[in-house]
Amino acid sequence: MKELEINSMQIEDELILDFDIPFDKWKIDSIKKNSTVKIHTDIHKIKNRFFIKSDIVFTLQLQCSRCLKNFDKEIKEHIDVYFENKRNLKSYDTDYKDLDSAIYEYWGSTIDLSQMVYDTIITSIPMKPLCSPKCRGIKLKDKDIDIKLAL
Ligand SMILES: [Zn+2]
Repeated sequence: MKELEINSMQIEDELILDFDIPFDKWKIDSIKKNSTVKIHTDIHKIKNRFFIKSDIVFTLQLQCSRCLKNFDKEIKEHIDVYFENKRNLKSYDTDYKDLDSAIYEYWGSTIDLSQMVYDTIITSIPMKPLCSPKCRGIKLKDKDIDIKLAL
């Protein structure tokens, strides 16, 4: 089994797992170098599918869109998803609509959480990062202001 893979045959009812995965697995530039992504999962077997509640904690390295300063931001995300065996997908077409959380597929007996974690990190990256809500942008030096006034 690779990192973040779970053998679904081992899950009788509920299984709680913790992972601590190095930043370089993810190939996402915004994750802080040398940090780890911590994943706490609570897996419940519900008939033929699995309901997985996860807390994902990681640190992003961002650049402020106003003052251009680099800063770190710790992110804590909670995500609930279903994992459905690809083999069952067709027969579940109808009751899919009733599910209130995203669905990921898995093949055979191996549930791989990598894509779910990757998606969670990617969607948490802000489009316009701010080092602080009060950031006032690039501070002009007195000299710069003089030049502006002269124009
Ligand atoms: Zn700023």
